[in-house]
Amino acid sequence: MGVKENLQKIKSTLPEHVTLVAVSKTHPAEKVIEAYEAGQRIFGENKVQEMVDKYEQLPKDIQWHLIGHLQTNKVKYIVPFVAMIHSVDSEKLLNEINKRASKLNRRIDCLLEIHIAREESKFGMSFEQAQEIFDQKIYQQFPFVNIRGFMGMATFTDDKEQVRSEFRSLKEFFDHIKNNYMKDKEDFNVLSMGMSGDYKIAIEEGSNMVRIGTAIFGPRNYDIN
Ligand SMILES: *Cc1c(COP(=O)(O)O)cnc(C)c1O
Repeated sequence: MGVKENLQKIKSTLPEHVTLVAVSKTHPAEKVIEAYEAGQRIFGENKVQEMVDKYEQLPKDIQWHLIGHLQTNKVKYIVPFVAMIHSVDSEKLLNEINKRASKLNRRIDCLLEIHIAREESKFGMSFEQAQEIFDQKIYQQFPFVNIRGFMGMATFTDDKEQVRSEFRSLKEFFDHIKNNYMKDKEDFNVLSMGMSGDYKIAIEEGSNMVRIGTAIFGPRNYDIN
């Protein structure tokens, strides 16, 4: 099946409140255009250089989401145009995004990436680290960063119950933060969970933003996670 058919099939299964981020990493601009022509406007990339290249080549009404690890020295390249950063995982990064965004007088929508998988990973904050950002109101130091919610990736496993419980733990944390710290902040409302292999479980567990690549664009030749 082509990109358009894949996209339509997935969209027909997504509840209305769930936003689809089409993950186009490693795929050429022509593939992005196929999805664009089928109506998709939100695309996700995990590398800064690749996202900048595609931004320059492609229609300007595309909303680009950065979903991969972001180094502080690369923040400046994406701040002029990025629509959302899903992978904010340190205070240092919050500080850099704030600094660069303030120069452009642009407030950037961000998600804190929380490490929920059983796998070892350098990326993502612990629940405790994230809790501290709200407890100590650290986010108030960064007026050009708009924290909209959380992103998490489940363990890569066939054990669906494991995946489900990881997603559930992040939804519970989201609700806890929302209710105790962000009740009046209407746009603290994004929970980005779920990829091609697990998005249905993620939605059942409360995700309202899914990041889907392979199921739309087909397999990647090389994996650059
Ligand atoms: C690559 C990637 C995805 C999409 O993965 P698929 O399995 O191809 O759907 C989602 N989220 C992140 C953070 C990624 O790096």
